[in-house]
Amino acid sequence: MPLQVLIIGGGVAGLRIGTLLSENNISFKIVESRERLGGRVLTKHDNTEDYFDLGPTWYWPDTEKHIESLLNTYNLSTIEQYNEGDSLLELSQNQLPKRIAASNVNNRSKRIVGGVNALVTALNNHISDDHIILNHKVESIYQENQSSYSVVTLNQYSQTHETFHADIVVLTVPPRLVLNSIDFRPPLPEPLQMDLLNKPTWMGAQAKIVVTYQYPFWRDENLSGNVVSWAGPLREIYDATTSSGKAALFGFFSLPPAERNLKSEVSIKEEVIQQLTKLFGSQAQAYEQILYKDWSQDGHTVTEGDKLNIESFPSYGPPPKYFSNMLFAGTEYDAVHGGHIEGALSSANQISQEIRNIVSSSSK
Ligand SMILES: Cc1cc2nc3c(=O)[nH]c(=O)nc-3n(C[C@H](O)[C@H](O)[C@H](O)COP(=O)(O)OP(=O)(O)OC[C@H]3O[C@@H](n4cnc5c(N)ncnc54)[C@H](O)[C@@H]3O)c2cc1C
Repeated sequence: MPLQVLIIGGGVAGLRIGTLLSENNISFKIVESRERLGGRVLTKHDNTEDYFDLGPTWYWPDTEKHIESLLNTYNLSTIEQYNEGDSLLELSQNQLPKRIAASNVNNRSKRIVGGVNALVTALNNHISDDHIILNHKVESIYQENQSSYSVVTLNQYSQTHETFHADIVVLTVPPRLVLNSIDFRPPLPEPLQMDLLNKPTWMGAQAKIVVTYQYPFWRDENLSGNVVSWAGPLREIYDATTSSGKAALFGFFSLPPAERNLKSEVSIKEEVIQQLTKLFGSQAQAYEQILYKDWSQDGHTVTEGDKLNIESFPSYGPPPKYFSNMLFAGTEYDAVHGGHIEGALSSANQISQEIRNIVSSSSK
């Protein structure tokens, strides 16, 4: 019998492991709790079928080689992040915004045409459908013996339980969520539990908003769309105009999750339009559509502890090794690019190699 690999989570890391195992004819299944693939990648269409990212937007080709090479392999087109013109700096609610020379924050960053979901679709297209099981949330993992696990899922529709046998389990669920939402028998060793707890979910406290317009009017004023604001509710704003020319701005919030929770979505959107009007003038009121996603409310990504903003960059990297057949992959386990899609891909590469080694030594 070939070894059975069960990948838990169908985000970028889980899907990339799936494509690499497919290429090596290793038998696997991916179980995903959501009704869609992609995890933190979330590309939404507006009413004109144009695309906007409410999860990750950028990659940095100068330093991120895994994603760059995968985009080339899959022939996915990219565009430069628009950065021409001045940026705005908003120091407080009572002061007018100041023009400053273009910021370099996102210099050389690129976006994927079609949104980051184009990468998710390309990965998915290289995995046959019978390897993917959606709407199954892993609830418990029982270690049967040194090299065998029973993984129990809850079907999100029928609310029935199902048990999967696995010789190798790969957890690509964000580390804190592993600890919070999966019951391990026997329990995970304490140092491993501490390690997972100390790896906050990247961007877990964030929300993202996209406001679409008929025309990128800020560019006429020689503004890039880049804003740094200490006034809020948005802390950073960027141009999100698509490759087909559909105009948009997107922003990250300075309002923490607890404060966002006290407001309705309608009033958050109104405050954002007021801020955009103050920054870019009355044309900002003539928006077409607003897309909004509060990640701190998403139980497939965050725990309660992730609702606090991360104060300093977390120490991401591989967890201490206690099991040869229970592996951990995902962006929070990559020491160099942890947090980014690049980290998820790099971790997926490394864990796929480990799986190949286990499979080849078992067949000797
Ligand atoms: C607002 C925002 C902006 C970002 N901006 C950028 C950016 O510009 N550039 C960049 O490189 N990165 C960015 N990131 C980070 C990027 O999205 C992540 O690094 C990457 O998507 C992580 O992939 P992953 O596979 O490791 O984890 P995830 O995408 O979180 O995948 C984990 C999967 O596990 C599933 N799951 C959870 N629990 C269970 C369970 N019990 N059973 C089964 N399945 C389960 C989840 O549904 C999910 O599909 C951003 C993220 C956010 C939220």
